Amino acid sequence: MIEKYSKVAVIGAGTMGNGIAHVFAQTGYDVTLIDINAAALERAVSTISKNLDRMAAKEKITEADKAATLKQITTSTDLAGSLKDRDLVVEAATENLDLKLKIFRDMDANAPAGAILATNTSSISITKIAAVTKRPSQVIGMHFMNPVPVMLLIEVIRGFDTTDAVLSDIMELSKDLGKVPVEVNDYPGFVANRILMPMINEAIYTLYEGVAGKEEIDTVMKLGMNHPMGPLTLADFIGLDVCLAILEVLYTGFGNPKYAPCPLLVNMVNAGHLGRKTGRGFYDYSK
Ligand code: NAD
Repeated sequence: MIEKYSKVAVIGAGTMGNGIAHVFAQTGYDVTLIDINAAALERAVSTISKNLDRMAAKEKITEADKAATLKQITTSTDLAGSLKDRDLVVEAATENLDLKLKIFRDMDANAPAGAILATNTSSISITKIAAVTKRPSQVIGMHFMNPVPVMLLIEVIRGFDTTDAVLSDIMELSKDLGKVPVEVNDYPGFVANRILMPMINEAIYTLYEGVAGKEEIDTVMKLGMNHPMGPLTLADFIGLDVCLAILEVLYTGFGNPKYAPCPLLVNMVNAGHLGRKTGRGFYDYSK
């Protein structure tokens, strides 16, 4: 644990926020997990507990490690009141520009002047987010991968004004979490989603145009390209709303029609079929 950043807050307790809180807590950081929705906080703690059970069953950690990790996490629905003593705040709320700008204004107003403000955004400009704060040099992207406790990569995104010192501290901190950080610059989709989302979108177009069925498309990519999971399964896992939001950022950011989201993806999001988290996406998860 890096003492200088021992007190961390994670904002947003959804798919990503619970995993981010988990890895910080397991490395010994004092974590406050914040969400506007109290039920999301309860679900997050229960998910962390189940994931720790799974690790204990595989003898990767002991029961004592599990208890110690859970002890490091407190939850809150009061953002302003919870940031006063935090050294690092990682925002992992819903992928929506206006929401993130609002949260960053609140983070800036309530976190100590020296604190680093990080965002786990998949695609929104770090520079644009930083510009609404009075400390753009201390704003950075920390793009964890899903599921956070398992995936090694953190894409560390440098905004236009991020200083070398902040970048270097976040690279070190990422290594301290047992992750592999990769430094990238702030352009739409960064590296991961600039390459991944056009592939997922093309898989959805392939289904939409009736070239093949969903299982067939996933099987081609799994067995033919050695991908651990097919692109439609992966889209369900990420969340179809998240995929759509990222494609829209790529589409408007580059002004290139090759990033236009497939109408089938748009329809599914409008219908509320967002993948695993709603029980239905390209596949059925209701059972
Ligand atoms: P999610 O929908 O699972 O969770 C978002 C959470 O944010 C919800 O619990 C919601 O209640 C909370 N929230 C909304 N408004 C809030 C506010 N004002 N204050 C506090 N909490 C608020 O979303 P997710 O998939 O966890 O995505 C979170 C972020 O991580 C997004 O920026 C997304 O692009 C990014 N991301 C997602 C993935 C993925 O695979 N899902 C991967 C990498 C990065």
